[in-house]
Amino acid sequence: MIKRCDHPGCGKAGIIRAPKNRHLTEFWMFCRTHAAEYNKNWNYYANMTPAEIEADWERQMFGDTINRAGSSPNPHQVKFINDFVLGRDTSGDQYPVSRPLPTGVVTALKTLNLPLTATLGEIGNRYRTLAKKYHPDIATDHHDATEFTKISDAYDVLRRHFSSKK
Ligand SMILES: [Zn+2]
Repeated sequence: MIKRCDHPGCGKAGIIRAPKNRHLTEFWMFCRTHAAEYNKNWNYYANMTPAEIEADWERQMFGDTINRAGSSPNPHQVKFINDFVLGRDTSGDQYPVSRPLPTGVVTALKTLNLPLTATLGEIGNRYRTLAKKYHPDIATDHHDATEFTKISDAYDVLRRHFSSKK
């Protein structure tokens, strides 16, 4: 069912989901025009860089809300809001269709120290950098070998996840 744009008096279809507040508990549905307008006026992150915004959402995900798992945003929401706040096009996004980022994928991204929004290209680059650093042929101590296994496993998880998406 397609909802009307929530902007008063607008008769177009509401196709873009916009957060009513930073807690992501409620959303507006806007047409493209009004979503853009709303986005421009949504100043919560006005003085933050994209990196700071992503860090803020990461903190919410993995930091102080960890004991209130029921109320913290899921990774899909985090990606959505990052995209929205940073002005990326969210119209083609699958949110909120139930394809949440599996826990294993989130863990793998954390292992590689990547944001939840990382692309396969970024993941590959990070993997190559870390693999060079910890590769058993180069690394000498045992801890590094363990680290290499962890990184490789994480990369496998992510590669599988991304290639099954299409
Ligand atoms: Zn509208």
